[in-house]
Amino acid sequence: MRQTVEVNRRIVCPICQNDRFEFIKTYQCFSLFFIPIPFLSWDKRYFAVCKNCGTTLQFRNGFNSDYIIAGAPRRREETKVRCRFCGSLISESNSYCPECGNKQ
Ligand SMILES: [Zn+2]
Ligand SMILES: [Zn+2]
Repeated sequence: MRQTVEVNRRIVCPICQNDRFEFIKTYQCFSLFFIPIPFLSWDKRYFAVCKNCGTTLQFRNGFNSDYIIAGAPRRREETKVRCRFCGSLISESNSYCPECGNKQ
């Protein structure tokens, strides 16, 4: 189960310095032969996901405890190559050089 929660805590993203986060609580309900086990035995986990870069922070024990970085940001590293004509650094996905306009 996954639930988005409202949390009054300001966190600054260690990666992009943004302070807008989505707080998520997840739990796993263990049930034995369909008999639900009391709420306290559920495995609860607390996360915050940066709305800007997607970095996931995981809290140790509840949203007011310390946190660690649990997931890397959704950053696409673009491979840089040199233009065959003018030598500028351009991203590999560019089919035209933005500097000199030549097709790669
Ligand atoms: Zn971020
Ligand atoms: Zn060029």
